[in-house]
Amino acid sequence: MNARTGAVFAAGVFVMALAQFFGAMAGAGVGIGIACLLPLISLGLLRMFEVELQNQWLGVMPPVLASGIGVMLWAASRPGMDPLLWMSPCLAGMITAVIVWWKNRDARRCALCNSRVSNTITFTCPRCNLVVCESKCWDFEKIRCRLCVQNAVPLFPPSKQWWDKNVGLTTQQGRCQRCQVGPEDAELRTCPKCGRPQCLECWDDSNGVCSRCQRRVEALPDALKQFMQSTR
Ligand SMILES: [Zn+2]
Ligand SMILES: [Zn+2]
Ligand SMILES: [Zn+2]
Ligand SMILES: [Zn+2]
Repeated sequence: MNARTGAVFAAGVFVMALAQFFGAMAGAGVGIGIACLLPLISLGLLRMFEVELQNQWLGVMPPVLASGIGVMLWAASRPGMDPLLWMSPCLAGMITAVIVWWKNRDARRCALCNSRVSNTITFTCPRCNLVVCESKCWDFEKIRCRLCVQNAVPLFPPSKQWWDKNVGLTTQQGRCQRCQVGPEDAELRTCPKCGRPQCLECWDDSNGVCSRCQRRVEALPDALKQFMQSTR
């Protein structure tokens, strides 16, 4: 929670505690009525000040605190308080929880930028399996999420046997047809169809496609195959 959120929380709790205090002063009925209004006021304040809570359930805190403080203050100043008023904090908490739950029931979010994706297209990254939004976090060309682009997360396993079986054999001849790296700096593997060398990094970065003849590695993860078929 940053300073700004803390300030909004504190100010909100203060004002609402006052409201609860004066409500309790007017009687149990009014006090409990105010407690039922606090959730709306609290969530309204959070929205008005555009407070983004990492955990939406934190929003339950201010009304409970405010109501508790208000009732306790009134109880302290008036020993014979109607015990019904002790229900106020519970009510405030329960109502807020119900509202938060209702608002969150379809709040799927992008795993990277945390924006709501209930009504937009999402993609499951074939490399890291995160579900990300289309607009900011998906790279259409590279068919992976922006985090995997940034960190150069590999698609294929490092095992030599896997490469021997699924891509092509290593070669000491020529240079990578895509990035021009030589066999002294990188492992080159030839395309089984056209025989051109391509370095491991380029095989991986191109999602297993030969940049010359477009032959595709067969053993692609299912999550990736869908994309390959739909783009063809
Ligand atoms: Zn996103
Ligand atoms: Zn990813
Ligand atoms: Zn290369
Ligand atoms: Zn090829």
